[in-house]
Amino acid sequence: MVDIVFMTHCILWFRQDLRLADNPALIEAARSGLKIIPVFIRDDAAAGDWKAGGATRWWLHHSLKALNASLDGKMIFAKGNAEELIPEIARQHDVKAVFWNRCYEPWRIKRDKRIKETLFTSGIKAESFNASLLWEPWDVLKKDGTPYKVFTPFFRNGCRGAAQPPEPKARPKKIDLHQPAKDLPAIDTLELLPRKPEPRWDHKMEAYWHIGETGARKRLNEFLADELAGYKEGRNYPSRANVSRLSPHLHFGEISPREVWHASQHSGLEQKQETDLDTFHSELGWREFSHSLLYHFPSLPRKALQSRFDAFPWARATASVLEKWQQGQTGYPIVDAGMRELWETGYMHNRVRMVVGSFLVKHLRLHWHHGEDWFWDCLVDADLANNSASWQWIAGCGADAAPYFRVFNPVTQGEKFDPKGEYVRRWCPELSRLPDSLIHKPWETPPMILAQAGVTLGRTYPAPMVDHKEARSAALAAFKATGGHADEDGED
Ligand code: FAD
Repeated sequence: MVDIVFMTHCILWFRQDLRLADNPALIEAARSGLKIIPVFIRDDAAAGDWKAGGATRWWLHHSLKALNASLDGKMIFAKGNAEELIPEIARQHDVKAVFWNRCYEPWRIKRDKRIKETLFTSGIKAESFNASLLWEPWDVLKKDGTPYKVFTPFFRNGCRGAAQPPEPKARPKKIDLHQPAKDLPAIDTLELLPRKPEPRWDHKMEAYWHIGETGARKRLNEFLADELAGYKEGRNYPSRANVSRLSPHLHFGEISPREVWHASQHSGLEQKQETDLDTFHSELGWREFSHSLLYHFPSLPRKALQSRFDAFPWARATASVLEKWQQGQTGYPIVDAGMRELWETGYMHNRVRMVVGSFLVKHLRLHWHHGEDWFWDCLVDADLANNSASWQWIAGCGADAAPYFRVFNPVTQGEKFDPKGEYVRRWCPELSRLPDSLIHKPWETPPMILAQAGVTLGRTYPAPMVDHKEARSAALAAFKATGGHADEDGED
């Protein structure tokens, strides 16, 4: 039975804006006076290589479930080609308009343009809005009209020089939803959850997150109340609670960056804590910068921005080497702790992301694509802009990147940012009885202390898979072969 409604309806196409507050497409749909048909489409074919990974699919399932509950279960879920499905649903329901919020992945931009054209030719209004960014990438340009490639001027002159991001808007008071004539397909039609038999890897992640708009706002409020003060310094220490863990909520649009920006600005920090706020805002700025890079350089996910890295002599990635890194079995405790945190929770602290990333591209000399792909599958905040830009940054081949010759030393990074070994003890419990002074270098631990701590290298915990000094020299030699100069002693 066709559900005929005579041009009194509109489609609200949800994508990465899974919230009701500060959602411009929803506000416009509500303002139009049309009855709203909320729709979500899983379109893997259009996404190609960048279809959602396992962890983000899991998050998406729960996030959509929460959103659907707040829309009285009236969402239409469909799997397939959005280019066909959106016009088809529009025809079936004889809708007058389709509203959505913009996404910045190159594949989405191309597809959405085509959908807009199809709708226009059918006499249907199609309008898109900005729900995901503080500033549109095409609005933040250098004086000569070209995009920024360096973060500081991008943020200081481009973003902060522009108007403040708009204040967030409340959810519409009245959301007039279309009453479907028949039962709607359940969320399970999207097949987002893993289908492998028990034990399912996703169950363990449930304990770490409160997914959905309510959870996002709760996390923001907790962060502002207890953790933003001290952020500038504390954000470097993976065992401290000074980071917001808002990244998956922001990625899926469960909370708007405008709300995060303004709520933090009005959080009542004392004057001496203003640098905490500035640092937090500049991290939100990195998110804007990554999106700007992806928008202006759509090949960012696969192609080095610095072309000389095309000739970099990467090592061959054998399964055994890659698996040691993926499974947290490298023998370097801070690296292994990070990779295990990722596997267990779908998240890894930013400091440790940098250390494990550097280890992959420098100590193992494996192409950054291997890290990018693993993170894509495992991170609950896997985001094409942030992930690609960050991997290019780590590999030294991106815009405003950490120079390749600055090689993170995993021991000193551990000693500096996890001085009491709390983070390592949490994720590598087999090392927990080692003293603080040795926990980041078990191979230098006298046999007697190892025995007392119950550690047998090569059996209960791996010996280092590479020697730091040798690996560093090999990385620098490879860098020189591409014409690079290690013009300072770049060890961190
Ligand atoms: P907070 O410190 O609380 O920061 C607040 C918000 O600012 C974050 O939620 C995030 O949206 C944004 N942000 C912070 N740091 C960065 C950054 N360096 N680049 C871009 N945005 C930032 N972030 C992702 O969201 N998705 C990814 O796929 C991703 N992949 C990464 C891969 C590598 C190799 C590295 C080094 C970093 C990656 N990041 C990624 C950036 C950063 O690590 C995470 O955004 C951050 O750790 C999220 O934790 P948080 O929400 O507690 O951050």
